[in-house]
Amino acid sequence: MRETLVVGAGIAGLVVARELVLHGHRVRVLEAGERAGGQVAGHRVAGIPLDAGAEAFATRGGIVRDYLQRLGLADRIVAPIDAPAWLHARTGTTVPLPAVSLLGIPSAPLSQDVVAVVGLRAAWRGMADALLPGPVGSTATTLGELVRRRMGDGILEKLVAPVVEGIHSTHPDDLPVAVAPGLVHHLLRENSLARAVARLRIDAPAGSLVAGLDGGMSTLVDALLAELDRFGVPIEYGVRVAEVHPDRVVLAVDPDAAAGSAVGSDAEPEGEVREGLVVVAAPGLVSPVSGRAADRTATHLVTLVVDADHDDTRALADAPRGTGVLVAKNTEVAARALTHVSAKWAWVRAAAPGREVLRLSYESAPTIDRARRDAEVLLGVSIPEARVVAAEATTWMRAGRIEAGESIPITGEQVAGTGLAAVIDHAQRLAERLGAPERALDPSDPALSVERTDP
Ligand SMILES: Cc1cc2nc3c(=O)[nH]c(=O)nc-3n(C[C@H](O)[C@H](O)[C@H](O)COP(=O)(O)OP(=O)(O)OC[C@H]3O[C@@H](n4cnc5c(N)ncnc54)[C@H](O)[C@@H]3O)c2cc1C
Repeated sequence: MRETLVVGAGIAGLVVARELVLHGHRVRVLEAGERAGGQVAGHRVAGIPLDAGAEAFATRGGIVRDYLQRLGLADRIVAPIDAPAWLHARTGTTVPLPAVSLLGIPSAPLSQDVVAVVGLRAAWRGMADALLPGPVGSTATTLGELVRRRMGDGILEKLVAPVVEGIHSTHPDDLPVAVAPGLVHHLLRENSLARAVARLRIDAPAGSLVAGLDGGMSTLVDALLAELDRFGVPIEYGVRVAEVHPDRVVLAVDPDAAAGSAVGSDAEPEGEVREGLVVVAAPGLVSPVSGRAADRTATHLVTLVVDADHDDTRALADAPRGTGVLVAKNTEVAARALTHVSAKWAWVRAAAPGREVLRLSYESAPTIDRARRDAEVLLGVSIPEARVVAAEATTWMRAGRIEAGESIPITGEQVAGTGLAAVIDHAQRLAERLGAPERALDPSDPALSVERTDP
């Protein structure tokens, strides 16, 4: 039987590889790096095991939960503490996010916690939502357009944008409405965006929008690797694919080259050729539709481990600001978001007695001292330099979306959208559509094309 070559061993590649094996494929995975998992990885800082990349998954639709259950990880699923995140607003104040809200969209625009962030004028404009007919904004394609039409610019820019940027690294004007499944449906039923939010939150109380794994999300990578090992699927590390065609790949001559790969290029192949049915689960490709490579952006993280067993740092443990703080643009703080990791996850708290673990994210690389000072502002406590027992900086390069064609099956976040829920869902559905090896031999069959899922 001809091999199926899965390019990339991130979560998308590992999931699609496992599912294809279950459909009867003989699978081989080709991975450019020296480890599997891609943006899901573990690291130790001051001896504490932590997530270096993704640390949670969206619980909506139960997609990830079901998948983890199938991998035998159901009893490792954990909820974060049940407390709202905070927002460092444009005014420079740091306040809890409105208790009942979705991506910052409030269920009660005139409530005190909303007024504290956006001011009275913008809050009153938000109330117009209750007077507008249901269809207003219901055909919006982006979340930004929907919120602007229903609740105005103030609520969009001062409240929704910082939350969305903190979670999805993009402005709501660039995020499809589908990022909040059911929101438009409930808007039309309730004739109000605020009431639609309230309705959705009744089904998903605070804290349950995301979940994690005891021991970190890298537990998922270990479980998938164990599965592939059980099925005898080889993973070749240090193998960078330079070119992909429906029936073969060409390997890069220099596997360390970071340049984008090409799909279906007519250039003479220079590297080694591997034959098989090709499934792509790696970013950095050129879209077979637009001919353009996905844009790549960097996310810089700094993890700080603070000794909180002293009088001058005890406040850090005693007064956490929920799970962390999202940051509005144009404030004195350079960080985009802070996660109070040891407050958010009980398993981290247990693994780090007497320590507080903070993780800050940035668009451009900060110094460790900048991260420490940002943490002081965001958490409203003093964190003396001498109390920082360890600090680690990590940079992630992420590829934006590309348009998938039908000639080569592609999965992963560049077609599925960001986040483990979207990525796992898409990879499973691609494997399902490809089905048994003999069926998958003709990937140009339109019946095999996978609809895009949004994050
Ligand atoms: C800091 C950070 C925090 C995040 N937090 C969350 C979170 O809390 N919750 C959530 O749901 N999502 C989160 N995400 C997003 C989530 O991790 C990603 O959407 C998801 O892991 C993407 O998986 P993927 O397999 O599509 O891509 P990747 O993880 O990027 O994997 C792609 C793999 O392909 C390999 N590869 C690339 N090019 C080639 C090539 N030419 N040849 C061979 N191999 C190649 C790469 O080395 C990599 O191993 C976060 C991401 C980051 C960076």
